[in-house]
Amino acid sequence: MESFGHVIDGEEVTSLDGATFESVDPWERTPWAAVALGSDRDAQRAIKAARQAFDEGPWPRMSFAERGRILHRLADLILENADALALADTTDMGKPIGETSGHDVPRSAQNFRFFADHSQVTPAETFPMPGGHHAYTEYDPAGVVAAIAPWNFPLMMETWKVAPALAWGNTVVLKPAEQSPASATMLAKLALEAGLPPGVFNVVHGYGPNSAGQALTESSEIDRITFTGESTTGRTIAHAAARNLVPVSLELGGKGANIVFDDADLAQAVDWSIKAIFTNSGQVCLAGSRIYVQRGVYDEFLSRFTSAAQALQVGNPKNPDTRIGPMSSMEHFHKVSGYLDIARSQGARLHTGGLGVGWTVLPTIVVGAGQSDRITQEEVFGPLVVVLPFEAESEVVAAANDTPYGLNAMLFTRDLSRAHRVARALRVGTVWVNCFFVRDLRAPFGGAKNSGIGREGGTYSREFFTEPKAVVMEIDEA
Ligand code: NAD
Repeated sequence: MESFGHVIDGEEVTSLDGATFESVDPWERTPWAAVALGSDRDAQRAIKAARQAFDEGPWPRMSFAERGRILHRLADLILENADALALADTTDMGKPIGETSGHDVPRSAQNFRFFADHSQVTPAETFPMPGGHHAYTEYDPAGVVAAIAPWNFPLMMETWKVAPALAWGNTVVLKPAEQSPASATMLAKLALEAGLPPGVFNVVHGYGPNSAGQALTESSEIDRITFTGESTTGRTIAHAAARNLVPVSLELGGKGANIVFDDADLAQAVDWSIKAIFTNSGQVCLAGSRIYVQRGVYDEFLSRFTSAAQALQVGNPKNPDTRIGPMSSMEHFHKVSGYLDIARSQGARLHTGGLGVGWTVLPTIVVGAGQSDRITQEEVFGPLVVVLPFEAESEVVAAANDTPYGLNAMLFTRDLSRAHRVARALRVGTVWVNCFFVRDLRAPFGGAKNSGIGREGGTYSREFFTEPKAVVMEIDEA
């Protein structure tokens, strides 16, 4: 068994009471690592280190260029250790190694490079006030940031939070998901090697309720909470943040609509639709989990989409050819497999798919479902997609907007006006037209409705991780 500790004030440490928990490899279905189990006291220890590093240490007082050099060095170290980091996430939560090494780890390095550079070139506003005054904005670091991350893109989501927080001069306490703790300890140790001063970036492991997660969200010593996870957890965290009036950024669940119009390039639509639902075995907040296909191409789309789904290789996530690995944990496997029964019990049919070996679920396509069925409304978070026919544009816009979520949508059409019209009518944070997953880190990222509060990315991250301050001066014009 490997072991992973907290990283607090520049050192890897055990819990104060010595408690640990096991991380289970979901393909082997056996524990592979012992991880420090953080209590309230461990969380307080990490918060104290971050508070001291913020109030007294050099990090918030450095120039953007000095911080940028250290964050670029960290990005270099992530790439130098790419194989070990990718393997850690794949072993923890079963994501195919081609995705952890081909996407998650390079993107994690890119998160640091992007925010290191962006923070150096982002201008602040001045407001000339003819008549004797001058005003401008200072973007001061906010303070101590609590970052709470999910298991589905462990290193990638953690760096999406930690990189902007650090670039704008904050100190951080990160709590990774209990299902995927290993790469966070590795990252914090690399950060020290890169030259981050002790206490600037701390990691405390543990669970959410009655554990390290809850302790972080309830602390009055925290200045920002950035959270990614389920919408129900987001509500609990928003309540905790409200008690201390702490600004909170919530990136929550989704039920992405994927709309294929009659005039779409079907090869393009099938290709992206496969990636949209089967990447990371469907455990993606942005997953295109309900595909609405216009009647004229419904049969052809379904036939091509089914063949492509059946061709995906299911199995050991450490095999580079595997496209669908196990569900991240036994609990999650039971949740996803339960939705197969829910779909059938409400009258829908499994067109292809079902259960695989161990905790795997085969690429599953559900047809014959209704708009109000649970399988169409609820986030399943597995390789399960519902395909529904539609006739008219107005009908599909209404259906796409008809879930509690509003994270993202995608549409496939060659009609430019229709693309703009539909993009405008969708109540979501991101719309992709004739593509999916493509990101520009300067653009706002977040969700409408139950998919979140706030936006991160580019200057949106700056707004959240700083305390914008107006300075007004009198000018003696004599
Ligand atoms: P989760 O809400 O169960 O857990 C997320 C994190 O919150 C974990 O670290 C957990 O320990 C912690 N936590 C749980 N309860 C807590 C509490 N009461 N107080 C403090 N911390 C607590 O989510 P998950 O199952 O790890 O992740 C999957 C979910 O994340 C899905 O709903 C998915 O859509 C969503 N997600 C959203 C985005 C996005 O950008 N919108 C990205 C990735 C995942």
